Amino acid sequence: MNPTEEIRTRFAPSPTGYLHIGGARTTLYNWLFARHYGGTFVLRIEDTDEVRSTVDSVTAILDSISWLGLDWDEGPLDLEREQGPYGSYFQMKRLPSYQEQIRKLLAEGKAYPCYCTKEETAAVRQETQAKGQPMPEDPCRRLSDAKRREHETAGRLPAVRFIMPDEGETVVEDLIRGQVHFESRLQPDLVIQKTTGGPTYNFACVCDDHAMRISHVIRGDEHLSNTPAQIRIYEALGWQPPKFAHLSMILGPDGTKLSKRHGATSTLEYRDQGFLPEALRNYLALLGWSTSDSKQLFTPEELFAAFDLPGCQKSPATFDPVKLNWMNGEYMRALAPADIVKRAEPFLKNAGLLPVPAGPPLIDVVALEREKFKLLPDVPGRVDFFYRETALTDKARKVLSAPEAKGVLSGLAELLGGFAPFMEKPLEEAIRGFCSAKTLKPGQVFHPLRAAVSGRTDGPTLFSMLELLGRETVVARLRKTAASLG
Ligand code: GLU
Repeated sequence: MNPTEEIRTRFAPSPTGYLHIGGARTTLYNWLFARHYGGTFVLRIEDTDEVRSTVDSVTAILDSISWLGLDWDEGPLDLEREQGPYGSYFQMKRLPSYQEQIRKLLAEGKAYPCYCTKEETAAVRQETQAKGQPMPEDPCRRLSDAKRREHETAGRLPAVRFIMPDEGETVVEDLIRGQVHFESRLQPDLVIQKTTGGPTYNFACVCDDHAMRISHVIRGDEHLSNTPAQIRIYEALGWQPPKFAHLSMILGPDGTKLSKRHGATSTLEYRDQGFLPEALRNYLALLGWSTSDSKQLFTPEELFAAFDLPGCQKSPATFDPVKLNWMNGEYMRALAPADIVKRAEPFLKNAGLLPVPAGPPLIDVVALEREKFKLLPDVPGRVDFFYRETALTDKARKVLSAPEAKGVLSGLAELLGGFAPFMEKPLEEAIRGFCSAKTLKPGQVFHPLRAAVSGRTDGPTLFSMLELLGRETVVARLRKTAASLG
């Protein structure tokens, strides 16, 4: 990297839907690259598709990026407010700037009005492709005045096409892929202004990347094929193109392009499923990038320090939900119990556990269970039986069907009815003594005891769990379950 070069990256979503996981990864890489080099990260909304762009999508995209904790230095703060010296960061508010450049290209003969309808162009394209031929010259490139008048009289509105070279090739110097060659004869003249007067993506993108002083365009590889045309537009306008880096495609576990079939693809769905943003960030960072020592877990500072484009792979990356779950569990375990409670608030509320019902302090229960949490909804899922009776799981029902279970539970209810102090160690001693006195194996006692008081067969250490549940609850549940057994 040239040390004097100012690093400016951008994420430039089209607000035509939610932020999918691939877009989140692109955002993350742009953010990490900017942070690594002490540069600037810009967010620009490419809303020139009048039909498909929606304000709800803008909001969803801003929410997704904010939730991931990827702060942007310039761009919209919300639908109304923006920050940064090169605004507006909404393309629809920049229309005059595109029109100015289009006028320039038209005046210099580098672009021309094209009156062909979409259907006419598509028909020619289909025919030439079927014959394996290059696209013929667009009929409007050299349109006679008479023909032009004819089109105008017929009420046809012109688009504007940019003249691509007829011969030779355009070479994209990609920072991840190296040199990629594109044959000119296969590149038709590009529409840069639609018949509605609005710019097309390829044109607006070039104008804005230039105007916003973007030094590095890091984006998904579906845009690699747009790059030769964009490079030609830079040349035609006399501008220096930025550096390009195209990120590998993301595949699902079955080797096909990641899609809804593979599960959640929207970033906010991951939030709603209870993933931690820092875990998803760590996971996405490794989805197409790695360090030479294959390190897996990174603090944010470690990621800033380590991330760079040479670590990005050319080959597709595979989305592995099992690894993401594992990683989230690692991040959950590293959180202090008070943080777990805070993060799980919406899920606890949803489950009716906030405000916390009468019972043991939530933080103590969370501390007892914390090794087991993988996702935030596991918090209410694993602590609920401390506050209310829960239905027996199938496994618990099976444990309780043992012939001695009823007697064990009644005996324990009697033993524990007046037991004090109701604490882990004395409880363990007393219950082990109960086993010996009744010549029962510990499993024959511990298993039905756990099943009766918690409704399940797995959970935290038995005696700590009993202590937290408290005598009244334990004895009441033992009696009730014993009575329910035939
Ligand atoms: N608006 C384009 C998209 O959402 C951005 C492409 C680019 O990064 O240049 O795909």
